[in-house]
Amino acid sequence: MRFSKKTVLVIGGNSGIGLASLAAIAEEGAKVYFTGRDQTTIDKAMEQVPGAIGYRIDLTDGPAMEQLFQTLKDKEGRLDVLFINAGIGGFASLRDITEEQWDQIHSINLKGCIFTIQKALPLLDKGSSIVVTGSIGGHIAMNGNTMYAAAKGGLHAGLKVIAGELVTEGIRVNIVSPGPIDTPLLYRNPGITDSDVDKLRDRLTDTVPMGRMGKAEEVARAVLFLASDEASFITGANLCVDGGALELR
Ligand code: NDP
Repeated sequence: MRFSKKTVLVIGGNSGIGLASLAAIAEEGAKVYFTGRDQTTIDKAMEQVPGAIGYRIDLTDGPAMEQLFQTLKDKEGRLDVLFINAGIGGFASLRDITEEQWDQIHSINLKGCIFTIQKALPLLDKGSSIVVTGSIGGHIAMNGNTMYAAAKGGLHAGLKVIAGELVTEGIRVNIVSPGPIDTPLLYRNPGITDSDVDKLRDRLTDTVPMGRMGKAEEVARAVLFLASDEASFITGANLCVDGGALELR
């Protein structure tokens, strides 16, 4: 029960890696709050994870995020763990990318994540731990991944600086970088068909030395480790959970 008496907020906790992490943290005794955009899956997550309280908030909506942190300040005073997991994909080759897609990916995957930390600062103090979901896509060149790679790579770089700035306040900041993980993210491209998803699965599986995609629960285990006091001497780290896809290339 590594999280007993701890208060945890998961940004993007109603699906995939965020939901698996939310459930695992709650099982280890935490009081859990989470956000998402889709009310149906927020309601399902609240049913699935007893005690979890979900809020429908887009993390790019600055005033709504500020209101969330004020609400949590009034209710709880502080956060032990902030897990920022929200993110979207977006494959397109250089010839096809649009400024609109670029801005959307960057406003969620990069700017939204960084400003969420800034807004949460009044709830964070000595002993608090921040974990953010990066991606091995932010470390490697994969054709068609310019927008996502640039956003996640920028996120990794910015978080390293933030880890340095917050270390003297006793706040740890770490990144979990998943490789290909089988989650609803795969189905979210507009117009994607089941056979496209199968092809994408095969293409992604080929990049993994372990020969399979990962499961959301396998990423959650790394998130819980970095969020917990077990990782009390770790900050600024970027832990890949990728079946060897980055290190064994
Ligand atoms: P999912 O699509 O299942 O989950 C994405 C989560 O982010 C959902 O909870 C979604 O909420 C939330 N979210 C997205 N945009 C916003 C927003 N603007 N405001 C608030 N919440 C938002 O995919 P995964 O679980 O796979 O993705 C989780 C993270 O893991 C992402 O950051 C992704 O980039 C990263 N990742 C995933 C990999 C994979 O192979 N699956 C590989 C590497 C990194 P809602 O459903 O309500 O929109």
